[in-house]
Amino acid sequence: MFKINDNYLKLPGSYLFSTIAKKVNAFEAANPDKTVIRLGIGDVTQPLAPVIIDALHGAVDEMGKAETFHGYAPDLGYEFLRTAIAKNDYADRGCEIAADEIFVSDGAKCDSGNIQEIFSVDNKIAVCDPVYPVYVDTNVMAGRTGTYDPKTEMWSDVIYMPCTAETDFAPELPKETPDLIYLCFPNNPTGATITKAQLQEWVDYANKVGAVIIYDAAYEAYISEADVPHTIFECEGARTCAIELKSFSKNAGFTGTRLGYTVIPKDLKCGDVMLHSLWARRHGTKYNGAPYIQQRAGEAVYSPEGKEQLAKQVAYYMNNAKVIKEGLQEAGYTVSGGVNAPYIWLKTPDGMTSWEFFDYLLANANVVGTPGSGFGPSGEGYFRLTAFGTYENTVAALERIKKM
Ligand SMILES: *Cc1c(COP(=O)(O)O)cnc(C)c1O
Repeated sequence: MFKINDNYLKLPGSYLFSTIAKKVNAFEAANPDKTVIRLGIGDVTQPLAPVIIDALHGAVDEMGKAETFHGYAPDLGYEFLRTAIAKNDYADRGCEIAADEIFVSDGAKCDSGNIQEIFSVDNKIAVCDPVYPVYVDTNVMAGRTGTYDPKTEMWSDVIYMPCTAETDFAPELPKETPDLIYLCFPNNPTGATITKAQLQEWVDYANKVGAVIIYDAAYEAYISEADVPHTIFECEGARTCAIELKSFSKNAGFTGTRLGYTVIPKDLKCGDVMLHSLWARRHGTKYNGAPYIQQRAGEAVYSPEGKEQLAKQVAYYMNNAKVIKEGLQEAGYTVSGGVNAPYIWLKTPDGMTSWEFFDYLLANANVVGTPGSGFGPSGEGYFRLTAFGTYENTVAALERIKKM
């Protein structure tokens, strides 16, 4: 008789977004005259930029001719894209990352979930609290976590690093030594960032204790302040302790198009084994490469027109972020984020829980956001609004919130 991977049974149901959907559907059914504005989603809404559409069309036409048809892509990605990434995202920032240290993929969610496979199940992970749920759940599936305590909403054998207002939502070095450290800056859900000096402390720490930092830089394009690192490889010593995950989803609207990449420097070793070799082996065995069409679209992101058009798209969302942040501040809320990230993290008023505020906001402003407690226990008492809506909806939502 077969057996299942019963680590899956340990996972508590992912109630967050299904509960939100249920509540919103019920509200809409009961109030057909009200229009609900959704500022809860972590998905982009602007269409793909013209330069990307042109690249997609061009690549599709190539696929239709024998001379320019492309079959299986190279496992690690096409040279044209890896070279563009190495130049624009690393060399131009003074970071030493070679094209063959870049692994092109179908997205950062997939990579952040899959990367744990190349590590022993004995490794202990450290995560921020609140956190993007993929990091923990994929380690649960692999059997790297102990048991879940529904009361504390925490797993045994996982090191939680609370990110609270006292530290501007930055984690502090953990007391217990982890093997794998997940960091995401600019952060989802809090919108917080850390300075280059702060990130350097993490790199120094990881090198000292022999840990690997898995650095999720999905929101790098939203950085507006000077002292915020765009990549962990700006830090000295990161080549021996860091893996970086990047995505084309948030900077270029590829959430439905799918493209990302992971950087594993060849200096990152366990004894004399390069993690690069393990990940290359995994890609070669389990992955047949991101589609040619998508990789050509990814290349267009780095063209001069691409940079110009995408800067405008990011600015559009960041203008929404400003509308949300300033609107909330005018209405007397305590807010953070929204400066280097498309997320605004607000403290719920009058000691409401995150879910109480969700209900209150839905009932009184007909606006949907995401309860902070859904991202971890330290998110209780907080609420996330995203800047990914349309400008018109964002303005209308804030008008309603101000009137509450
Ligand atoms: C949106 C997001 C990603 C991007 O995932 P893709 O699979 O590339 O779409 C990665 N990490 C975080 C924290 C995100 O919010």
